[in-house]
Amino acid sequence: MADHLFRALQTCEQDGRYRTNLVQRNVNELPEHDVLVDVHWSSLNYKDALSASGNKGVTRHYPHTPGIDAAGVVLSDRSGRLAPGTEVIITGYDLGMGTAGGYGERIAVPGQWVLPCPAGLALQDTMVLGTAGLTAGLCVRALLQAGLTPEQGDVLVTGASGGVGSIAVALLAQLGFRVVAMTGKTLAHDWLRSLGAAECLDRSELEAGQDKPMLAPRWAGAVDVVGGQVLAQVIKTTRYGGAIACCGLTGGAELPLTVFPFILRNVRLLGVDSVEQPLAEKAAIWDLFGGPWKLEALPAICSGIYSLDELPEQFDDILAGRIRGRVLVKVG
Ligand code: NDP
Repeated sequence: MADHLFRALQTCEQDGRYRTNLVQRNVNELPEHDVLVDVHWSSLNYKDALSASGNKGVTRHYPHTPGIDAAGVVLSDRSGRLAPGTEVIITGYDLGMGTAGGYGERIAVPGQWVLPCPAGLALQDTMVLGTAGLTAGLCVRALLQAGLTPEQGDVLVTGASGGVGSIAVALLAQLGFRVVAMTGKTLAHDWLRSLGAAECLDRSELEAGQDKPMLAPRWAGAVDVVGGQVLAQVIKTTRYGGAIACCGLTGGAELPLTVFPFILRNVRLLGVDSVEQPLAEKAAIWDLFGGPWKLEALPAICSGIYSLDELPEQFDDILAGRIRGRVLVKVG
């Protein structure tokens, strides 16, 4: 294929329905940004499936190439900061939302979005982690900064079999915490234990007492990816002085709650965003994953490797919460 041509997935609107197909694109069609990257790997995130299904909160204009994560090699950098051949990763900001994303063999991005591949991680491993790993890492760091230690008691992870959840389970367990993994998938219990969970809890076990302002205290801390009623129950069952990192909404965006857990139990709710974090903050988490947080369970967290043409079949599965762990995407 000529140098300026590349393969990419493209989501288009047809008669009010959104379809994603593999197409050939031209580098000239990419935005005018400094850094041109030859993408080798990407990953599947919940947000990618939203983008590919026409969710206007994620992507406003179509045709569009999704993919909020990308790892590859610099082809050129007009600013001169990154030498051609440098291995780099890009996660978040506008990649895959308004800017053509990692499901294409080429991306053009501003230099402020680009990080050199962290020491200690292969390019492929960075995308097993991807935005989900970065988010799990930010959640765990927020809990540690709030003073959480393994001696304080159990830490709950909700949506535990998903991308953010499974990485949070593995990381917390590796750091010495007793992790309780909450999941809707009975079949995932053994796998979650193999990642380090001490105990698995069915989603339904946290449903009782939805009308009560507080419930029997159980958790010293929590990572919540589900939001909605589940997060409300987590907050109501958190022990005095506990902290909860909140990053997702797979179960809903509302939060049916009173202020009592906060003002009577000193519970702290810590919001976590991975998308607009300053690049230096992202780099700090990536360096941890390449060093002291290097995850032994990473190979087990990768549930499959898909090529660009195979990927669209996975979109419905992640939206329905049927994916276990992380899906890696082989791009170029
Ligand atoms: P995944 O789809 O990989 O995992 C989500 C998990 O949530 C599912 O596997 C399932 O786990 C659980 N789940 C799904 N539907 C429901 C439901 N209706 N009620 C309760 N639990 C449900 O997604 P990710 O891990 O990539 O992302 C998780 C969330 O975090 C998403 O909302 C995403 O948008 C958000 N996110 C936020 C970021 C940020 O920067 N704040 C960055 C990345 C993600 P199980 O079956 O085990 O319960």
